[in-house]
Amino acid sequence: MRRFEGAVAVVTGAGSGLGRASAQRLAAEGANVVAVDVNTDAVLDVVASLPTPGIHVTADVSDEDAVDAYMAAGIEAFGQIDLFHLNAGIFGSFAPIPDLTVDDFERVMAVNVRGQFLGLRAALRHYRDRDVGGSIVFTASIAGHRGSADLLPYQTSKHAVTGLVHGAAMYGGPLGVRVNGVAPGIVPTELFAAAATTRGGGNDMTARAATTPLRRAGTPEDIAGVVAFLLSDDAAYTTGEIVTADGGASIVN
Ligand code: NAD
Repeated sequence: MRRFEGAVAVVTGAGSGLGRASAQRLAAEGANVVAVDVNTDAVLDVVASLPTPGIHVTADVSDEDAVDAYMAAGIEAFGQIDLFHLNAGIFGSFAPIPDLTVDDFERVMAVNVRGQFLGLRAALRHYRDRDVGGSIVFTASIAGHRGSADLLPYQTSKHAVTGLVHGAAMYGGPLGVRVNGVAPGIVPTELFAAAATTRGGGNDMTARAATTPLRRAGTPEDIAGVVAFLLSDDAAYTTGEIVTADGGASIVN
């Protein structure tokens, strides 16, 4: 099924992991892709892998001018943007709360919250001006509805994503704009590899994944399937929702 024939999708953090899989899934279903990432080589590689026309934009999503620039580049290339997967995010530091620096906190909030806000605002301005409706999906996290003693900046930022989804769904609904999120559980990506290094012992993701109902870690493609569903008309009556995709990890008592 090619649900996105003729549509144009922005994917942030498209150079790796979940964003890469999302760009590939949306393109496989017909979308032209505006692939955004701070890592130029990675995002060039993704665009080269797509079966549909795509462009890469090197941009830091926490930079207001860079967000305007990726919107302008997408519109110049394809005329309009129909779908947004606002996905770029970082883990930041693992540390007990008393040991966190202000910089530790602000670095994560800059990318995961300000960056998501800037992408959201740009998307909603574009949708408001076009007045044809649209769809936005954020990458949230199961960390957005849980606590963890050594991951405060990240989990705070992902709780904030829930606020962005809810507020934006309220604003966008009357305009025909749906706003949802996907909350992945354990998906081994570069982000998780970096976390394993910084966090050290106790971060055995394979062992944790084996305790979930589905007995395995997720794949970027597992998450891309949910993103594609939420962006598509198959989810036409779903907005303001965070769909968990964690192999059932959240229901374990
Ligand atoms: P990843 O590190 O593999 O990919 C993230 C991509 O985002 C990279 O290509 C990176 O260069 C890019 N990026 C980072 N900061 C950026 C910035 N300021 N501007 C533009 N691009 C930037 O990680 P991933 O696991 O694919 O993570 C993607 C999203 O999924 C993140 O929001 C993360 O919090 C979320 N998430 C991941 C998991 C998981 O298990 N991997 C679980 C829950 C949520």
